[in-house]
Parts: sequence; C-alpha cells; structure tokens
Amino acid sequence: MWFILGLYFLLHTINAQDVIFGQNKYTEYQVGNMSLILTVPHGGSLTPSTIPARDAGCWDKVAKTCFYTHNCPTGAVKDSTNCKVSTVKDLYTLETTLTLAKEICTLTGGYCPHVVINHLARSRLDANRDKEEAAFGVSQADQAWDEFMNFIGIAKSRMSRGLLIDIHGHGHPEQWIELGYLISKANLDSGTFSASDTSIYSMSKQLPDVPFGTLLRGSRSLGRFIEAQNNNYACVPSPTNPGPNGGNYFSGGYITSTHGSKLRGEVDAIQIELPKWIRESSERPRFGVALAKAITNFYQLSFHN
Ligand SMILES: [Zn+2]
Repeated sequence: MWFILGLYFLLHTINAQDVIFGQNKYTEYQVGNMSLILTVPHGGSLTPSTIPARDAGCWDKVAKTCFYTHNCPTGAVKDSTNCKVSTVKDLYTLETTLTLAKEICTLTGGYCPHVVINHLARSRLDANRDKEEAAFGVSQADQAWDEFMNFIGIAKSRMSRGLLIDIHGHGHPEQWIELGYLISKANLDSGTFSASDTSIYSMSKQLPDVPFGTLLRGSRSLGRFIEAQNNNYACVPSPTNPGPNGGNYFSGGYITSTHGSKLRGEVDAIQIELPKWIRESSERPRFGVALAKAITNFYQLSFHN
C-alpha cells in the first residue's frame, strides 16, 4: 500500500482542491490549501461484506491482554467485557465536517482546510484506534487504516506548523461541546497538568507570553471562541467550564495523541466531541458558520502572531 500510494504521488503532483480516494473509496482526502486539517473517523456508513463486523477482542486471562482478531489465538476467547470495542457511528459528523469545511473556505475567501474522511462504518473500521483494534487484522480494513493515516501524514507534510481538528459526536447528558487536549477529566478539574502533556504543546511553545491556562480555557482558548459565537454552545474546557466538574468528558483519542504535538512535530490537535442536537440538520448550518468563525479566530491568533 505504501508503495502504491508512494508511486501515485511520484507520478501525480497533488494540488489544492484535488480529491484522492483510497481503495474502493473507503477513505477520502480533500486536499486543502491552508495549515488546517479536519478528520472525521466515525461518520462512515459503508458495510462491505468483504470486511466482517468488529465485535469483541479476544481476552487472554493469563497474559491479561486483548487480541483484536476474528480468530482468537490459543488460550484466548472472545470477551465483550474485557475487550469491548465501540461500533457506534457518530451520527451526522461527516455532514457537520463538510459544512464546516465549506464555511471556512467562504469565510477566508478561498483558504480551505484539508479534510480526511473514513467512509467505512465504525463496525468495519474504527479510524481513531491503533491499527489492531481498528481493523482486526482484516486486510481491506488494514489498508483503509493505512490510507487514512497516510492522508493525514501527507496533509501534515504540506505545512510547517498547523492545526488538526478531529470531529466526533457524543451521547453524554451534559449536551456540551467537549474539547480534548489529552488531559483527563480528573486532571482538568484539579488543574494537574502542564503544556507538555497536551496535544497543543507546540502552539504553547510558539506563544511563550501566553500562559498555558489562557490558551487551554481562558481568553485565547478555542472553547472561548466557540462560546463567543453563541452562548448556547457551552464548551468544556472554556472560561465558563474550566473542567467537566465531575461530569462526562472525552479527553482525546488515538488521532489526537498520535497526530498532535504531544509526542513530536509542530502540528497541534484538538478533538471536538459534539452533542447530538448540534449535529442535527436543524442546528448544523448555524453551528457550521459559528465553528468556522471560532476556528478561524483561534487559528489566526495562534498561527499568525
Ligand atoms: Zn467518535
């Protein structure tokens, strides 16, 4: 696969506004022309019969390890408690992401984000997990995972510094927007964290005069820029909700930890988890405009200082 994609890019120069598909159109990369990447790993619907449904991993009780495969190795058995996998679609996140991308292009007068899409249903591929849990060793799913991650890599290679926004939907009763920077909910509530623990570590180093708390949940935070658009769009963390205060909250997954700047590089990442009412068609157009403005404000202040 790497060879095939590598060959593709040797033979074809990629240009902004190109749309590149992976095998069978399971994955898609809309090439952008700004240092912003939108990823949507859980909005897909395709359920090809050649990829069996992800069910549960195999639990080896001696090694206390899960093996994510359809045929369990000797000594391990399918266990939906110890090796549970998530298969629920993040409803309307693809639609929300495409609306957002279009609004950003309009707002900036033609600067469009890179968009990386997984069209496979989460029951076939979870593109926000490590490869084994994501694809269960099924070759077509393995290839789609490689392509999805490679598309992110290509987008990152077209920028020096930049921002990746990974878009999801949650079902938590709080109905707020959860912004994940890799800080656990307990640590957000207690204030026990430092910039180097987070997926926006690079940005914090570029802005040494801005206290990290200001960037994370103060006047320069994405949460504040979203809330400033419409006070129905409550965010955590933000000036109004510095932490989840014991409530439900997702702190960021595989994409945010792998492709953000915690481990390496100068591309920062933030996971956005949206409540369902915001993703519905009745709210989506209004929210798309608001989030486009908020991200653009955050982006311009953070990358054009
Ligand atoms: Zn998700």
